[in-house]
Amino acid sequence: MRFTPQKPSLFGETLESLSATLIEAGHPAFRAKQIMEWLYKQRVDSFELMSNLPKSLRHWLGEQFCIYPVKPLLDKRSNDVTQKLLMELEDRSLIETVLIRAPQEGVGAEQSRKTVCVSIQVGCAYGCRFCASGLAGFKRNLHASEVVAQLMHICRMEDAHTPRAEEAIASFDNIVFMGMGEPLANYDALVRTIKILNAEWGLYFGARRITVSTSGLAPQILKLAEEGVAVRLAISLHGATNEVREKIMPINKKYPLEVLLPAAKAFQEQHGRMLTLEFILIEDINDSLEQARELAKIAYELHAHVNCIPYNKVEGLEWKRPSIGRQDAFVKVLREAGVSVTIRREKGHDINAACGQLRLKTEKSMAEAEARPGDPFA
Ligand code: SAH
Ligand code: SF4
Repeated sequence: MRFTPQKPSLFGETLESLSATLIEAGHPAFRAKQIMEWLYKQRVDSFELMSNLPKSLRHWLGEQFCIYPVKPLLDKRSNDVTQKLLMELEDRSLIETVLIRAPQEGVGAEQSRKTVCVSIQVGCAYGCRFCASGLAGFKRNLHASEVVAQLMHICRMEDAHTPRAEEAIASFDNIVFMGMGEPLANYDALVRTIKILNAEWGLYFGARRITVSTSGLAPQILKLAEEGVAVRLAISLHGATNEVREKIMPINKKYPLEVLLPAAKAFQEQHGRMLTLEFILIEDINDSLEQARELAKIAYELHAHVNCIPYNKVEGLEWKRPSIGRQDAFVKVLREAGVSVTIRREKGHDINAACGQLRLKTEKSMAEAEARPGDPFA
């Protein structure tokens, strides 16, 4: 489904595209830079606050554009480590944006490393069998402006209590495309978003602090390698052999390991940086020591870091998280093979932090609320 907003958002514009539109309407091109300054450095949310623009231009902007195409609805915290925002789009679709604070030793909570996890589609078409985003199917691609706006909402929220806001830089350290949707299936919006984030006139956020996570769209991995945006790449592997992987990831039929892994290798060679292999541990599906040994071989070949993620329970799915003992045994095999490996001890488990879960629950309660009037967010 394609969605055309009533008015485009300024967050989808580049300096070039905005200058061209301004010139066409008879306004001087240099105003584009001032407008970007208000958006990304001052982070205002209204045209009226753009005080160095003539009134007539502010009026014209208001007629042509909106600023925020995304509105935060729900804000759930989990032990102050994970903060999950449910956002509503113009067509009332729901997406999720998550802020994860990794506490660092010896410094206060405000100095913790902050990672923002953004969504790039409403739902997902790839139907991985463990994932809440895939469960509800695919609704639509997000526009670049809807992705940028998620980040700007987080910036504004953090600016309120971050000293770094004074320097007008982003008030977080990393951006990961690990929310709802498959980034490489919304390729043009992904690349446009990254360019807006990178730009000096934009958020001025370095590509090496951006991670794109993919379930393995091999042709688009090759395309991204040539794109000239030096982002980090994470591959959602979740199975170290075709037999195991295709049980839980239907995409493996289209791009099996013998197609996916060479594409990942080409990306790694192009950028020279370590890849990440994501591996959700699911009991009796992919957590055998044999899988660990196969995974070690792949990681070694690709010069990749492995991130093991104990499966996060999704309502309506039958999978289970392995015991801590089984998780540790799996990690030990990798470590002993000399692979760089981390295991994520859950952040935000209690607020449904795994991708798509909060949206799924909220949509269910909204559907129930429509049948039974009342406030679904009460
Ligand atoms: N579509 C992309 C990016 C979004 S999903 C991809 O698949 O990589 C990002 C990550 O969410 C997946 O790699 C997986 O690590 C995580 N995820 C999804 N469902 C999960 C679950 N039930 N438990 C733990 N992690 C999950
Ligand atoms: Fe889509 Fe990624 Fe979830 Fe698979 S894991 S269904 S690709 S969002």
